[in-house]
Amino acid sequence: MQISVVASGSNGNSCLIENKGTSLLIDAGKSCREIERRLNNLGTSLENVNAILLTHAHSDHIAGVDVISRRYNIPVYLSKDVYEQTNLNTKTKIFSKSFKINNLKIKPIQTSHDVPSTGFKINDFGIFTDTGIITKEIEKITPKLKGILLESNHDIDMLINGSYPAFLKQRILSDRGHLSNIHASELIEKQGKNLNFALLGHLSANNNTVRIVKHTFETIVKKKLNYNVLSREKESGVWDI
Ligand SMILES: [Zn+2]
Ligand SMILES: [Zn+2]
Repeated sequence: MQISVVASGSNGNSCLIENKGTSLLIDAGKSCREIERRLNNLGTSLENVNAILLTHAHSDHIAGVDVISRRYNIPVYLSKDVYEQTNLNTKTKIFSKSFKINNLKIKPIQTSHDVPSTGFKINDFGIFTDTGIITKEIEKITPKLKGILLESNHDIDMLINGSYPAFLKQRILSDRGHLSNIHASELIEKQGKNLNFALLGHLSANNNTVRIVKHTFETIVKKKLNYNVLSREKESGVWDI
């Protein structure tokens, strides 16, 4: 199974999973044109995508979904709670528990966010972004993963001392906000015993830097592990499981 990251950050998210002829996009939080361009850079195209899985209805995850789904006739899979937050005008499929798309076994795992939001375990890969805390379920499933894309949104000190208004700082720091660098790295150190690689993403533009993510990760995570801090500006790939 191959993982490529089309976009990651508070300015847009999308991740491509390919396995023996089946391709999934998790989220499409950039315009159709931008996702087309980035997939082209990765050597593929929306023509090859069989399904879009949606984590939640914030625009940095959903911006291109309607257009892409209609233009390329790709069904959108999402939970009922997420569906009710969207205005999608395309073919949707509601899931409530684990399901399969060809040879991919998909387990939805709720994250802790200010709107209904889903992470996924897809075969041996996990993707968890937009979560204020590491939930019990995320903690339990991480030892089973060989690869993970995990939110590493902010440096707590940068956020507290930064220029955001108090209510926004509170929202990001809350249990239903976004995951800090420290909490992301701690999960990987404590639970990531079978991981071959970790992708740290969904970085904040104002409250984080690649350098600080790396410093925090290398301070906390003692085991040898391939890891990558995902660019907010361009696609990156490819990781093999
Ligand atoms: Zn987001
Ligand atoms: Zn969100």
